[in-house]
Amino acid sequence: MTHAFWKQVWRADVPGKIKHFTWKACSNALPTRENLMQRKIIAKSSCQQCKSQSKSVFHALWDCASIQQVWESDFGWVDRQKTSTGSFQNLVELITQKPCQLELFITIAWFLWSRRNKLRLKEEALPQNRVVFEAKRYLILHQQPVNTLPKKQSQANETKWKPPDFNSFKTNFDGAMLSDRGEAGLGVVICNHEGEIIAAPSEKFPQPPSVICLEILAARCVAIFVHEVGLH
Ligand SMILES: [Zn+2]
Repeated sequence: MTHAFWKQVWRADVPGKIKHFTWKACSNALPTRENLMQRKIIAKSSCQQCKSQSKSVFHALWDCASIQQVWESDFGWVDRQKTSTGSFQNLVELITQKPCQLELFITIAWFLWSRRNKLRLKEEALPQNRVVFEAKRYLILHQQPVNTLPKKQSQANETKWKPPDFNSFKTNFDGAMLSDRGEAGLGVVICNHEGEIIAAPSEKFPQPPSVICLEILAARCVAIFVHEVGLH
């Protein structure tokens, strides 16, 4: 495990919990069935999703037949022969060799891991074909200034997102005060009816006097943007 590799992981612009997850996954410290069996917490171990005998972190997050499709669209370029060592860390190292791939990769992996846990507990889990979209949306919202909003405000916005009707578009936006810089930021995500992100502009402007003011300004900016790009 090289110092440079870890530096890249810690520098990634993803929430802390995803960095921790990556660190645990690479150190084989996630509670997979294999790890639990070694600690004799469960007697038998096989993958519950594909019934194969493999149950490592590497299998759960990458190699399992049940999730191959998830990786296909954005990480179809990964040469699976090079991952034949079966080490999740080697896989992440391989991903870091290509620029700007690490953040999306570990965010998708984190979504897959939490989905797998929910399935195991027979709880309602994200449909598999939504994993990549939700991971991308999560990443975009994290990387935009929306995160600097006061907590109460962010929680109020946590309603369940649904894609818009056929042939229409849905715009989600949020403004944030960047108090220390005397600026305010606006993050926008525009999706089509299939839930694909078609645009995610962001903008900064001088700080308005209140959060309400900021929200109004944000709504105005979005209306102008949507009009400019010709969406209705
Ligand atoms: Zn499997």
